[in-house]
Amino acid sequence: MKQRLVIGNWKMNGSLADNTLWAANFRHQLKSCALTGVEIGICPPFPYLSSMRPMLPSSIRLGAQDVSSECIGAFTGEVSINMLKELQCHYVIVGHSERRARMRETDATIAKKFKLVSLAGLTPVLCVGETQQERQQGETESVIIRQIQAVIDACGAGSLRGGVIAYEPVWAIGTGVSAELGDIRTTHALIREQLSANGLGPDDVALLYGGSLKPGNSEEIFSLPNVDGGLIGGASLKAGEFLDICLAARGTPHNRVTDIAQKYDN
Ligand code: PEP
Repeated sequence: MKQRLVIGNWKMNGSLADNTLWAANFRHQLKSCALTGVEIGICPPFPYLSSMRPMLPSSIRLGAQDVSSECIGAFTGEVSINMLKELQCHYVIVGHSERRARMRETDATIAKKFKLVSLAGLTPVLCVGETQQERQQGETESVIIRQIQAVIDACGAGSLRGGVIAYEPVWAIGTGVSAELGDIRTTHALIREQLSANGLGPDDVALLYGGSLKPGNSEEIFSLPNVDGGLIGGASLKAGEFLDICLAARGTPHNRVTDIAQKYDN
């Protein structure tokens, strides 16, 4: 079985004190479980990237939540791909629905970011997903295909090799209600088909599900075909919950960290 991947997206949460506690809890709880066969990434806010690196076990990879579509210059408030590389980021999330909606990021901008990340040798995590309205109008398939095709057209299908696509239905993000298993299965199969039509096999691109993933539903979601792991928002803010999701990604029975070490969680 291919190695599973679990990435935590902290969004605009945390503080120096919170992050220190999170890392201490994570390291402590990690000792009580044999966590092998899962690749793990953490995406803290930009200002905490450099302080997080030494606090995390070296096997845990660091990621950024976004990157500028420009390389250098007069772009106040932006963070470039070279800066992220210097800070030892491995993953870079592009096209998160919060940025598509709030910052009005277009498919073209996202494709530009994707290209910069892949040219720099970092691993892009492309987020795709339909809104509630698009879902109700029966547009899920066309939205997902359009969002992925924009990257293929701008960067070439080869740029997706070694990359990650996260299917995150917008209506499932932060709501506590994840997509139905059947819907995840159907959409992941659709994405695989699109990738395959572009010469990309199952080992070329990791497909994650994101949207209210938590310890209670991760096992069944990870058991679905074409689901290689998860992108976790809210549940990644608690070290124990995040670790439980990572354990579920191993695909073997386990004792919940949150049951055996509750008192250590932040
Ligand atoms: C996300 O924002 O990428 C996400 C998956 O959030 P949550 O897990 O909180 O739904």
